[in-house]
Amino acid sequence: MISSQIQLASYLFASILFILSLGGLSSQESAKKGVLYGIVGMIIAILSTVLGEGIHGHIYIIVAIVIASLIGVAVARKVEMTSMPQLVAILHSFVGLAAVLVGFGSYLDPHTQELSGTLRNIHLVEVFIGVFIGGLTFTGSIVAWGKLDGKIRSKPLIYPGRHAVNIILVMSCVVLCYLFIGMEGTNGIGYLYVMTAISFFIGVMLVMAIGGADMPVVVSMLNSYSGWAAAAAGFMLGNDLLIVTGALVGSSGAILSIIMCEAMNRSFWSVIFGGFGETPKGKQAEVTGDVQAVDHEEVSDLLKEAKSVVIVPGYGMAVAKAQYPVYDMVDRLKKEGKTVRFGIHPVAGRLPGHMNVLLAEANVPYDIVLEMEEINDDLSETDVVLVIGANDIVNPGAETDPNSPIYGMPVIQVWNAETVIVMKRSMATGYAGVQNPLFFKDNTRMLYGDAKDSVTKINGFL
Ligand code: NDP
Repeated sequence: MISSQIQLASYLFASILFILSLGGLSSQESAKKGVLYGIVGMIIAILSTVLGEGIHGHIYIIVAIVIASLIGVAVARKVEMTSMPQLVAILHSFVGLAAVLVGFGSYLDPHTQELSGTLRNIHLVEVFIGVFIGGLTFTGSIVAWGKLDGKIRSKPLIYPGRHAVNIILVMSCVVLCYLFIGMEGTNGIGYLYVMTAISFFIGVMLVMAIGGADMPVVVSMLNSYSGWAAAAAGFMLGNDLLIVTGALVGSSGAILSIIMCEAMNRSFWSVIFGGFGETPKGKQAEVTGDVQAVDHEEVSDLLKEAKSVVIVPGYGMAVAKAQYPVYDMVDRLKKEGKTVRFGIHPVAGRLPGHMNVLLAEANVPYDIVLEMEEINDDLSETDVVLVIGANDIVNPGAETDPNSPIYGMPVIQVWNAETVIVMKRSMATGYAGVQNPLFFKDNTRMLYGDAKDSVTKINGFL
């Protein structure tokens, strides 16, 4: 058992570690340290809470932690990098569900019944808001998981008047909250049930209305909601650390969502309310022309002649696990005195930073990995661009076709280079389901096949 002063000091220390952790995660060089701060902070947080005054039934807590840790380790070991966003989404749903359960538990807790006057009203509002945010985070995250995992179609489900329906539902929750507070004892539980059902419904409808191309923002937005749900649970439980941690997660998730919206040239409100006022009405421009295929030897000849090469990786590189032969190729080309760099789109792959993690895994030096805006101006002076398993992020239609679902999203302008090699298995579309006019351009050559296989074969000729 530890005293409440020691507990408070530990909470403060853990909060500082969480802030340092977020700071560390902001760059690749310090990311490992950031994760370490987070782990130590969390261990301190759990220990100082469990060993605090008034906590009973330690054996149940230990058993729960052991079981949960075993499941966590097993799942994290098994999950592929490409399925990470789904895992993150489903984990957010647990935070949402936990906030709902804490809300109900806190409402039924005999200590709550001892509260009276303003204190009681404030507590009941905390419970109501916590359950509301938790409920929509829970179901919204499940739908996001389904969409990312291909279990639910990624096309937005849009019906007329949905914004009005959502506003009416939120307003009715405000009325329910008023009625809930007015009830004696635990008699308001019925209102809590009705509001929980409404929040579940809002969560489903909000995420169903969002299209595949906006999913990265949704995942980070749900991250933010789960933080606010945790902060609300902190208020209900009177736990300062949970309030601080929840607010950190909530605000950093919201900031990340805004940064991503800026990177994709989307309106933040349009994304979180499901394409508010922004759905393309006309028919998408038809893509016509001839496609020119090349073989591995021809690509290696082009690379041998090139002075500067830019590699643009996408989701397909992750699927094929091609990062290791890609690094091998970079190494060979650099030894030949060529300038080789990577151009990374902010939403390449299936989660923010996906490509950076893969390249770091293969030991690619950070200084040749550039952001989209750092590389775009140099592409007109680049001899060869290798597009490895990328599609939407190099689609010129995002700049030229106002009816394209990805219109307005900044893309890597690979077509400005002298020659573009696109490595993919077929002419299939990418995540947003739109055809790519890049494949039909005069300076584009298609190299069909699995990316790992293709890069390994090219390396054989270099
Ligand atoms: P895309 O999904 O647009 O395209 C990937 C391409 O890779 C496909 O066209 C596919 O073509 C090809 N591919 C698949 N497997 C292989 C393989 N084994 N070898 C070679 N090629 C392969 O990916 P991008 O990275 O270009 O764009 C990301 C998209 O995902 C964007 O629309 C973004 O909005 C969305 N998104 C991003 C998230 C993020 O946070 N980064 C999260 C969720 C969605 P083929 O089948 O012909 O091989």
